[in-house]
Amino acid sequence: MATEATKPQAQAQTAEVKPVVEKQTNCPACNKPLKKIKRYYRNGKFYCNKRCWIKATKANEKKEDNAK
Ligand SMILES: [Zn+2]
Repeated sequence: MATEATKPQAQAQTAEVKPVVEKQTNCPACNKPLKKIKRYYRNGKFYCNKRCWIKATKANEKKEDNAK
């Protein structure tokens, strides 16, 4: 349909814009989007896999546990 492509831009702007819900969608370690099937839950957060969890955990430990 050629007519579909020639929509006025003002109308395109009225597309539904849902407010961003406070939901974790990205991995804290690598910042990649998390998929429903493959995710790794630890300490109240989701990561893509164990590796990312370890990465994030170690980063936290470094901050809090400097004296070691
Ligand atoms: Zn990750």
